Amino acid sequence: MSDLLARHRAVMPNWMALYYNEPIEIVGGKGNRVVDADGKSYLDFFAGILTNMIGYDVPEVREAVERQLATGVVHTSTLYLLRTQVELAEKIARLSGIPDAKVFFTNSGTEANETALLLATYARGTDQVLAMRQSYHGRSFGAISVTSNRAWKNNSLSPLNVHFLHGADRHLTQFRGMSDADYIAACVDDLRHVLATAVTGNVAALIAEPIQGVGGFTAAPDGLFAAYKEVLDEEGILFVSDEVQTGWGRTGSAFFGIQNHGVTPDMMTFAKGLGNGFAVGGIVARGDLMDGPHAIGLSTFGGNPISMAAANATLDYVLDHDLQANAARTGDILISGLREAAGRLPVVGDVRGRGLMFAVDLVDPATGAPAPALAARFMEETKKLGLLAGKGGLYGSTLRMAPPLTLTEDEAREGLGILVTALETVDDEAR
Ligand code: PMP
Repeated sequence: MSDLLARHRAVMPNWMALYYNEPIEIVGGKGNRVVDADGKSYLDFFAGILTNMIGYDVPEVREAVERQLATGVVHTSTLYLLRTQVELAEKIARLSGIPDAKVFFTNSGTEANETALLLATYARGTDQVLAMRQSYHGRSFGAISVTSNRAWKNNSLSPLNVHFLHGADRHLTQFRGMSDADYIAACVDDLRHVLATAVTGNVAALIAEPIQGVGGFTAAPDGLFAAYKEVLDEEGILFVSDEVQTGWGRTGSAFFGIQNHGVTPDMMTFAKGLGNGFAVGGIVARGDLMDGPHAIGLSTFGGNPISMAAANATLDYVLDHDLQANAARTGDILISGLREAAGRLPVVGDVRGRGLMFAVDLVDPATGAPAPALAARFMEETKKLGLLAGKGGLYGSTLRMAPPLTLTEDEAREGLGILVTALETVDDEAR
């Protein structure tokens, strides 16, 4: 064990997961690559779990932060006006497509979801909330209540009364072989049944990820959210789209994930990539909800000047360089390349994704069962070959890839080569 790892183990909680048999220390980064303490370079296909949205050491972001630092003001208080906060809020409100939208900034996605849950429960005067199976929204008391993925839900002391709906969990026996239309009808039936038999009084909101990130980049079929939204509208239930992983053009086909479904939510939460590594999150919501009678901010630190400088520069970069189109282009190279390879690799159970958010399920070739041990092997292989990937899903057998949106076509092809080589190695070993 390295000295640093031993010191980490001594003073940091044992539940803090570290990737790889020999965890790496990242000490540098440029473009879409990072360098570890041994000087080894990696193409970053997980972008620090989607936080480094436009890569590393981006001059525009660095200079914006340096300009703010030079003013001497790192943070004062949200009790005073801050120009960059207003400017960023204006941009996000416009991009959201939500009518009369207002924005509140937090430090993280968890805080953003906590704010959404507060606003929705205040607005509707109830503790009843709907969420999706296999979801992940964070681990504060409110956010963990709407998280259904057991691996991330270590307690059940929920302050909310949550009912979980079907969406991306269509592998269940009762849904197998159904057409999308039949599946959606069955889900809507279930929603109506939950509303008629399980909830007490008003329901505040449905919170959902357009593509479930931690759940393994799994998604409900097109049409499901639109069908749910009709029922929610009938009942006056709010719809919150958690865009922490799917926002800012990552899916290639829309700027926010839920826009792929033709649905305008009442609120969206966001975080991660917007600050390109600087801590920022937030919520964009209908003005009447944001200004509701009991609504209050979650903390005094969200929207600090450094994060606002970084976030403004990052968002401008995404828009100026049309990185949504780049995500579509480079994502297509990767997803179609992986699908082609999957045809000859029995170890690959599924390839799915949208833009630069794509996943591979690894299965035991003999039984088709999820194969978490093979996913761990794949991670070691890609590390050796110089690429950082992510892992997760319900069974720890899903490989999750989400490179910076700045990925070039050459880097996409280089990364594809590494992914396919690693899959071939794992496939060989699994037989
Ligand atoms: N929502 C989703 C969809 C996420 O993926 C995450 C983080 N993985 C969160 C919320 C929580 O965000 P944060 O870690 O910034 O609190």
